[in-house]
Amino acid sequence: MMALCSASLRLNLLVNRCRFYKFSSNVRSVSGNVPSKPVTASVSETTDDNLIYTRDHFALKESLRKIIDQEINPHVEQWEAEGTFPAHKIFKILGTAGILGVSKPVEYGGLGLDFSYSVAVAEELGNIRCGGIPMAIGVQSDMATPALARFGSPELKKEFLLPTVLGDKVACLGVSEVGAGSDVSSIMTKAVRKGDEYVINGGKMWTTNGTQADWMCLLANTSDGPPHRNKSLICLPMNLPGVHVARKINKMGMWSSDTAEIFFDDVRVPCKNIIGQEGMGFTYQMLQFQVERLWGVANVLTAMDNIIQETIQYTQQRKIFKQPVLNYQVVHFRLAELQTEVELLRSLLYRATAMYIKGNDVTKLASMAKLKGGRLARELADSCLQYWGGMGYTSEVLVSRFYRDSRLMSIGAGADEVMLGIICKYMDTLPKK
Ligand SMILES: Cc1cc2nc3c(=O)[nH]c(=O)nc-3n(C[C@H](O)[C@H](O)[C@H](O)COP(=O)(O)OP(=O)(O)OC[C@H]3O[C@@H](n4cnc5c(N)ncnc54)[C@H](O)[C@@H]3O)c2cc1C
Repeated sequence: MMALCSASLRLNLLVNRCRFYKFSSNVRSVSGNVPSKPVTASVSETTDDNLIYTRDHFALKESLRKIIDQEINPHVEQWEAEGTFPAHKIFKILGTAGILGVSKPVEYGGLGLDFSYSVAVAEELGNIRCGGIPMAIGVQSDMATPALARFGSPELKKEFLLPTVLGDKVACLGVSEVGAGSDVSSIMTKAVRKGDEYVINGGKMWTTNGTQADWMCLLANTSDGPPHRNKSLICLPMNLPGVHVARKINKMGMWSSDTAEIFFDDVRVPCKNIIGQEGMGFTYQMLQFQVERLWGVANVLTAMDNIIQETIQYTQQRKIFKQPVLNYQVVHFRLAELQTEVELLRSLLYRATAMYIKGNDVTKLASMAKLKGGRLARELADSCLQYWGGMGYTSEVLVSRFYRDSRLMSIGAGADEVMLGIICKYMDTLPKK
């Protein structure tokens, strides 16, 4: 009861912080062809008796929606065209409103709420009219920081977590390398202890926020031991001598999110920058991935709701052979099928979230949700785009951006096949090596 009261108090604080904001409601549509009627929220977003959300969650979502409508959506077109967005500016706005650390400890700038609030934030961020910016925000709030919050020393949290939660520093996550993506255990970057410093050599690939970040949550080999026991997570300031941002990678989607290739050439970082225990980095990263995957699923759910709704609106007004496209049974039945799948996935996510909050290992459910999220996003993008005809093939409509952006879901944060491997391990069907 006490815990509930203090959680509620903290949330009131947040909502008040958000209210200081001057809001206006001028959401710009990507498509000139879509009627300006707002997209209707899905069933689970409007009811109070939600499985994991209370009125407080909905209040939080509403506050965030105003920031999205005023500070983010009006600029998405420009940022997509520029291939980047002003992370420091946007993260400061979100950090000031408390959005970047809803489930982080209060003493490090967070709101100290449970992970269901992070899921609520991730779902709401799905209303941003592209995939790149929500992903960049997710890296900051729930991908590069969970291990630091859980296992980092108080000094390290003060130096890196606090300013990240407040939006004063931009974070990135350095796990993948040119030669190691799916097989995280085979990374080559080395951090060799010399006195009270690590000397780091190697490189990271596909680093989201990498051209703008102030620090990296870096996974590196800190010994020659077995691959699951020789790695550590290290907080690496990106302004140290020897850190080289080699290039910004051009991508098929997620245009507004900058993705970097980074090299480390004799970078010296104090040993105290290690997160938790030396040699535990692989385990910490696997735990961090659970949060990342659940966050990613929550985020794509709203985007899928919006694509279905915009497809309904478009096909209602577009007439072929004297009747709206939506009136053809093949169209409205297909959209009903897709919405059903979205709601099934939402149920799985909420179940996994509820179990996670209670301290259970949700690796199997999180992997299933991630697998299904990636596959459903691809299927839904393809089906909906089809009903827009030639318009769907233009870059003027959200559905074509979603088609490009959401393709990443089956690759990033563990490809579909990696998820299948994990699920098989839990089903005890993976052949022994
Ligand atoms: C836009 C973008 C942003 C990213 N952001 C980050 C970031 O911020 N930080 C970070 O560390 N990484 C990031 N990544 C990297 C991402 O997590 C990796 O791309 C992903 O893990 C896959 O690794 P890979 O690209 O090396 O593919 P590979 O490991 O080469 O895999 C290629 C393909 O092989 C198949 N495959 C994999 N395993 C198996 C298996 N067991 N059985 C059968 N087939 C299999 C899959 O189809 C897979 O797609 C990002 C990637 C992209 C594209």
